[in-house]
Amino acid sequence: MVKETIQIFARLKPPSRKHQQGVCAEQLGTGEIYSIDEDEKLTPSLEIILPRDLADGFVNNKRESYRFKFQRIFDHDAKQEIIFENIAKPVAESVLAGYNSTIFAYGQTGSGKTFTITGGAERYSDRGIIPRTLSYIFEQLQKDSSKMYTTHISYLEIYNECGYDLLDPRHEASRLEDLPKVTILEDPDQNIHLKNLSLHQATTEEEALNLLFLGDTNRMIAETPMNQASTRSHCIFTVHLSSKEPGSATVRHSKLHLVDLAGSERVAKSGVRGQLLTEAKYINLSLHYLEQVIIALSERNRLHIPYRNSMMTSVLRDSLGGNCMTTMIATLSLEKRNIEESISTCRFAQRVALIKNEAVLNEEIDPRLVIICLQKEIQELKDELAIVTGEQRTEALTEEELLQLEKLMTSFLEDQDPESRLEVGADMRKIHHCFHHLKRLVNDKKTLGKSTGPSETKNQDCQEPLREEEYRKLQDILKQRDNEINILVNMLKKEKKKTQDAGLLSSMDRSEIRSSQGSPFPSGNPQEGQRTSSSLVPAQAQDFGASRYRSSLLHKKTGMRGEMSLGCQEAFEIFKRDHADSVTIDDNKQILKQRFSEAKALGESINEARRKIGHLKDAITQRHMQQVALGISENTAVPGVPDPQEEELRLQLEEEKKRYRTKFTRLKALKVEIEHLQLLMDRAKVKLQKDFEAWWAAEASSLQQVHSPAANPLGPVKPFPQTSESQQDRSQLPSNRRDLTGRNTPPTPCPSPVGREQCSPSTRPEVSISERPTSSIPLTGDSQTDSDILAFIRARQSILQRKCLGSN
Ligand code: ADP
Ligand code: MG
Repeated sequence: MVKETIQIFARLKPPSRKHQQGVCAEQLGTGEIYSIDEDEKLTPSLEIILPRDLADGFVNNKRESYRFKFQRIFDHDAKQEIIFENIAKPVAESVLAGYNSTIFAYGQTGSGKTFTITGGAERYSDRGIIPRTLSYIFEQLQKDSSKMYTTHISYLEIYNECGYDLLDPRHEASRLEDLPKVTILEDPDQNIHLKNLSLHQATTEEEALNLLFLGDTNRMIAETPMNQASTRSHCIFTVHLSSKEPGSATVRHSKLHLVDLAGSERVAKSGVRGQLLTEAKYINLSLHYLEQVIIALSERNRLHIPYRNSMMTSVLRDSLGGNCMTTMIATLSLEKRNIEESISTCRFAQRVALIKNEAVLNEEIDPRLVIICLQKEIQELKDELAIVTGEQRTEALTEEELLQLEKLMTSFLEDQDPESRLEVGADMRKIHHCFHHLKRLVNDKKTLGKSTGPSETKNQDCQEPLREEEYRKLQDILKQRDNEINILVNMLKKEKKKTQDAGLLSSMDRSEIRSSQGSPFPSGNPQEGQRTSSSLVPAQAQDFGASRYRSSLLHKKTGMRGEMSLGCQEAFEIFKRDHADSVTIDDNKQILKQRFSEAKALGESINEARRKIGHLKDAITQRHMQQVALGISENTAVPGVPDPQEEELRLQLEEEKKRYRTKFTRLKALKVEIEHLQLLMDRAKVKLQKDFEAWWAAEASSLQQVHSPAANPLGPVKPFPQTSESQQDRSQLPSNRRDLTGRNTPPTPCPSPVGREQCSPSTRPEVSISERPTSSIPLTGDSQTDSDILAFIRARQSILQRKCLGSN
């Protein structure tokens, strides 16, 4: 059992760009607001200094600074890797050792919780605790061959006190509220079970990463402008790990919760209304209950801890004051306007630091395995008893026993190992059965032999009984042969071991050959995969499986494009070009390209190294043979002193192998990076699609309003993106244009931020109706098709506008 208080860390977010560049940078500059005291080596402290104008304001009019102690404080320049190494790696290690563990991030919206837990959406180096921990855990599992591990993933979101399974394979829902709800069940031992939360097995890092991205994508898709779930919900990503030693019935279970809590800001400050107020109430309620639980836990002799008050505290019950090692990261955005929230986050952390948890190893005996072991033992004891008492069992063997014997005999006969044995125990019935079976087999073979080789059989039939002398002679020969066989078996064993060692290298070679052909990574031949699994590159063989998995998961999300009308597609192309995320997508595309060519070059040089290794091996063998041949021809024994030339070749071989391994490790890392970048891009694409769909739907509905008789002819058409300034712009546009059908055409929305700037009232070029190439398309009267056509016209218009602007 490990007794430990919850570890608390602080992470400071870099000041936002706006504030770095803004006019009041000096005033908002973080330097004046906080200082980190690292002198106190064991517990560094963070001092938050109130600016003079705030000191007598709303926070406290007496004090000028507040000091908070943390296990460690990470200033704004701390990289994700440092955070992982110092916070998450020790936690991952305790999970691997069999302890439940939790890391949760707490702080106001925008302070960097998601950045810390999941990572940034743009760069590979920004990946957060979850992907890095997954990578670390799978790396360790591969290294440890003494145990059998199974890993499962679940991903839960709690929003407005309801739980949603972000990995539910059935869910096609577009709204969070339509997802199946996860509910809490409590067993008589007060253990919490989550109904409707799916567990997904992940055998590789890639599979686990795919699940993380799938969950994040589902979350993004379910989010609407009305429910900004990402800041208002709690997300719990859980890795469930089980391990077992071969042959043992004891299974060890551990869980790692990685928790991204909702923003901790107070309602009063955000001044929310309606739906948002409900959400804020729920967030604050659940964070409020979390606080209550923490206060109760930090007070001694409190008998009742109000875990049941909210879903989040129920789910995290073990992480708080229970069987778990827990770590909290207080994320802080230390700018003047956030000072109150930052102090409140730090205060919360100080209370959390008082909580003591007691983590125990969660070992459990697997009843199925115990039953199998006991059954075997009973059988063995029965057999022994039968021998000791001389009592023979006479009842017929059961169907099951017969089947088992068949299996044993087949594997015995197929086993090439000359030392293999047929173990049927001391039961004479079984021994007899086996003998009968083998006799039948031999006879069958003989009959078969008779029909195919009559002359041979005839010969055998004609053989006379052996004389005693001959018989003894043969027995001696047999003994000799037996000895020879034993010697040969030993040699074979040694040889086998050597081949296994060499196999490590050659399996690397094999996968590398594939890597040099087309893709830089090896393909997924399952047999190869199995063989390489004991070598350096077990995850490689599943590479393409993983990407297929990813693309099929994400394909579901982007299904709409196939059904787009022509106009819609054209509008999408323009929307895409001007969307802010397209820069990220393009950047990542470039990086991907670079990584791909780097991987390809690496593949080639690995191939070259492999060839060199092959040549060196050949040269060594040749040299060795030469030496032996020389020894034979000169009739001298092979010299005991090693041949310097051969030694030199061996040194070169070792060097080459080292180089090979270094490159291969790099290639492996590249593969993970490429996979991650592809996932980031996929997610960005889904987001783009989603933004477009929202914009398109809004456009279509406002168009319908424009055309309905009751509607205001000036109609509230939403330009993209919808902003108050662009609405202002639009109000100044001539609004009574008519298309050829004589209907009012809504004013042209500026389809992009770029377009919006260019389309200011003074600069926006007027495009006359006759210039519109598609304006002769008659409207159909079907509102859906009409909106498509109109959008198409407007997309065309914006292209024209662009062209005009380009030529100006
Ligand atoms: P939260 O989840 O607490 O609401 P986010 O993690 O979404 O906050 O962070 C808000 C913004 O700040 C994001 O754009 C994120 O990329 C950025 N950010 C947060 N922390 C850091 C950091 N340590 N370094 C760089 N950017 C950060
Ligand atoms: Mg967040």
